[in-house]
Amino acid sequence: MSAHYDLLIRNGTCVLPWGTEATDVGVRNGRIVDLGVPASASADEVIDAAGLHVLPGLIDPHVHLRDPGDKAVETIPTGTKAAVLGGLAAVFDMPNTSPSIVDAERLAWKQGYVEQEAWCDMGLYVGGTKTNIPALADLELGRGVCAIKIFAGSSTGDLMVEDDEHLEKVMRAGRRRIAYHSEDEYRLQARKPLFKSGDPYTCHMEWRDEECAFLGTRRLMALARKTGRPAHILHVSTAQELEYLKDYRDVATCEVLVNHLTQVAPECYETLKGFGVMNPPIRGRAHQEAAWKAINDGTVDTVGSDHAPHLRDKKLLPWPDCPAGLTGVQTLVPVMLNHVNAGRLSLARMVDLLCAGPARVYGVVGKGRLAAGYDADFTLVDMKHQRRIEESWIVSPCGWTPFAGMDITGWPVATIIRGRTVMRDDTVLGSPSGKLVTFAG
Ligand SMILES: [Zn+2]
Repeated sequence: MSAHYDLLIRNGTCVLPWGTEATDVGVRNGRIVDLGVPASASADEVIDAAGLHVLPGLIDPHVHLRDPGDKAVETIPTGTKAAVLGGLAAVFDMPNTSPSIVDAERLAWKQGYVEQEAWCDMGLYVGGTKTNIPALADLELGRGVCAIKIFAGSSTGDLMVEDDEHLEKVMRAGRRRIAYHSEDEYRLQARKPLFKSGDPYTCHMEWRDEECAFLGTRRLMALARKTGRPAHILHVSTAQELEYLKDYRDVATCEVLVNHLTQVAPECYETLKGFGVMNPPIRGRAHQEAAWKAINDGTVDTVGSDHAPHLRDKKLLPWPDCPAGLTGVQTLVPVMLNHVNAGRLSLARMVDLLCAGPARVYGVVGKGRLAAGYDADFTLVDMKHQRRIEESWIVSPCGWTPFAGMDITGWPVATIIRGRTVMRDDTVLGSPSGKLVTFAG
């Protein structure tokens, strides 16, 4: 009797850890069991992936789904629906909600909520504050917790640990890799009076200048080396930091955002105004070129969207009253596929940045790799499909995207999570059945 599977993906071009191969994938009980399946094998469900690339389920390791918060902006149900429509199998969600996720009680609430309402799998960040330091060593081992997140410079919300004394205490509490928003808070505050309401939107990058980011990262690296505590520097935005971090591979990994790879100043502020304002800011072309160089020489470990939606009305306010943060979870994969088609990186490197990279940095168990025994998470992409990003496609309640009007070549056509097809051709299927991602303690 020949083999029988729950799901067979036939005729696709698979991006495997060791290269790209035309092979069939057999799935049983939500896991990959075979690569290379005889023609005689049968399955309950067969997906014909002829003409498509089969990628491991892509992961966005940096989103803010704003839940609990303002339901008119985003929620976990809507944000994870956006994720699967955009070809993501998992997202890691930040803790600066209202209220923030900073203790065991709120973490337990969120764990239960995710298991009821999420369309994709999720990792959860827990926020570090000056007052919850004694609890961090336990919190970082919580179910589904990808990392402790520290805001060393202020952004949206009230979470912040800005001084070296408390940062060192945080680093000495627990042992897993800590994720940092690295901008020097003292320099941010010192420069704020240099600007006033109604100044041009380009002032955003002048206020939060290169030195704010570089100084923040230098301070964190000194403390990380002193304490030996691994660090992940989120959304690195300057050429200086990317060069500097190469000398800190013993303690540091880093992320670059799709926005910093795609949008450039001053044009983004002229065309997008408040809808181009994010932290750290989109900067000039030299920094974008440095980011691409760092993608291609391996300096960068992960790429994220930093999906951080706000109400449209708020983004229309003059600078600096418009809040910082941009939507992006639904557009991350199409925009990155477009960069692949433009020759800026290989499809294999994109998969490395959106699967193997997050898995390595955060210690993901059983995901991020198209291999036997791993979760049957797949993103099927049509590398030839051409489409314009339209705001009507965006399902986040805030309803806008800074990539509206962008013509894309390469599009995610199916998202499969643990063997279940949750998105096919722009349609979300079934009911929310996302689970918490497992991390190695
Ligand atoms: Zn963020």
